Amino acid sequence: MFGLSYSSCNLCPNDCNVNREIEELGICGQSDKLKIAWAGLHKGEEPPISGDNGSGMIFFTGCSLHCRYCQNYQISTDNIGYEISEKDLSDIMLKLQHMGAHTLNLVTGTHFIPSIINALDMAKALGLKLPVVWNSSGYEKVSVLSILDEYIDFYLLDAKTLSSKTASVFCGTEEYVKYIIPVLDFLYNKKRNNKVIIRHLVFPGELESTIKFLDFFSENYKKKFLLSLMVQFVNPYVNNPCVNNPNVNNSNSISNLKDKRVLDNKITEKEYGMLLDLLDKYEIDGFFQIMDEEEEDKEVLWIPDFTKKNPFPEDFATPLNMDIS
Ligand code: SF4
Repeated sequence: MFGLSYSSCNLCPNDCNVNREIEELGICGQSDKLKIAWAGLHKGEEPPISGDNGSGMIFFTGCSLHCRYCQNYQISTDNIGYEISEKDLSDIMLKLQHMGAHTLNLVTGTHFIPSIINALDMAKALGLKLPVVWNSSGYEKVSVLSILDEYIDFYLLDAKTLSSKTASVFCGTEEYVKYIIPVLDFLYNKKRNNKVIIRHLVFPGELESTIKFLDFFSENYKKKFLLSLMVQFVNPYVNNPCVNNPNVNNSNSISNLKDKRVLDNKITEKEYGMLLDLLDKYEIDGFFQIMDEEEEDKEVLWIPDFTKKNPFPEDFATPLNMDIS
């Protein structure tokens, strides 16, 4: 596949240049062997993606960005998952379609793009018709996205921050900021009219950073993108067995944040109201997470446990039977 290779891997902005075919590992921590942690129907995505039946999600193991608040740390950093072939991945895609998925939702797959493209080709040849969602941190290279783009119908992309300082604290690298705007511009300017939802999470103690982001979004992208604004930051440090497990390498995890109190600094009702007013004023369309004190008490439930067959609350997710023949 022109320009995409595991042998000298530059698939993401980290540009590790390692040979993953001989098990040299870069920042994503993955060789050239496809690895996934979970597949199934999930109803917790934004309505256009979940539909009535749920989105057919496939969570890939590993991640090129190691956010310090990652809710999926078990798979992004701690490597939970199992190896599959490209043919297996193609079969999983078709099975999700058979289960009645509304969309095929590929979660954090940047480091496996060459295999994902091969699997999509195989699945399409066998009748895959589902709209394909690229669900990503936004830490991407435009040169790689432009090759992948013909396979993607829907982008569900994070835009975490436009501040280098905030990116450094929460995303583990200030480099994030250098890449996210070109990615948004690429999606905005290209001729193919894929649908785009941009997710933005309000980080604790970082309301100013969100206000700057809303201002920028409104000025540049609101005509073409929907915004999904999330206000309930979940502190992964609370009751998180993995973070406290001495056998787990958490060198990139939230446990290394010097002052963990920052994580409990949630937005107030007054600030919440101010954000609502701003969305009104800027006439931004999209989805807005409701601030719910009771739900906050249950926050730990929202941290998936990928050691279980169903890592999510039962009402939300139905696992695919993973017996791959
Ligand atoms: S995909 Fe992985 S190995 Fe390749 S450049 Fe990114 S982090 Fe490095």
